[in-house]
Amino acid sequence: MANPKYPAWVSQLSERQLVDTFGSDTLKRGQAYAAQSRVGHIAVGSGTGGSLVQAQVRGSSYYSYATVVRHIAATDTLISTCSCPVRSNCKHGAALVWHMHTVNMRALTPAWQLALDEVTADAQPAGQGQPLAVSVARPSGMVQLRPLVWGRSGRWVKTGITWDQLAYPWQGNYREGAPGGAGRPGPGPRPARQRELLLPARGRTVAG
Ligand SMILES: [Zn+2]
Repeated sequence: MANPKYPAWVSQLSERQLVDTFGSDTLKRGQAYAAQSRVGHIAVGSGTGGSLVQAQVRGSSYYSYATVVRHIAATDTLISTCSCPVRSNCKHGAALVWHMHTVNMRALTPAWQLALDEVTADAQPAGQGQPLAVSVARPSGMVQLRPLVWGRSGRWVKTGITWDQLAYPWQGNYREGAPGGAGRPGPGPRPARQRELLLPARGRTVAG
């Protein structure tokens, strides 16, 4: 696990704090800018009472703005100023903060979890059924993944579920969840990107 690149307060920022500073619309635009790699080289400085970060952020028409964000340690608040017409708490400031936040969070995330990002990125919380989990173990240098269900004992258990049942959910008791909630079987086997697997609460007959 790598050390976070930017100051610790960047990692600890909550969604609430960012919305309070920038407003939710500006935050969303800033997040889109960060995803489009519009944040240039970032200079980090520290002074009395907090720290200061500065970067050029590319706006529309490839014009770059000088954006500065100060973090006041005593109140854990952000002050964002910019050379763009908006002047303060603009989408460029939001992009700068969000970019640093995602870089830090990535450094703090274990490698095995990053490897699962592709399949979990647009997973939705299940609206019905029982939750499923994957256990990750490393016996003798190998990585072992195992499906788990929430057991009556109040713990994740491996009894009663196999990868075969997950790979062909419409042949067993596991269904891929449709956005509306009701499980709807797909046209053929497509086990590679199961988004949401639902286990109906009513009687399940699981063959080994
Ligand atoms: Zn700006």
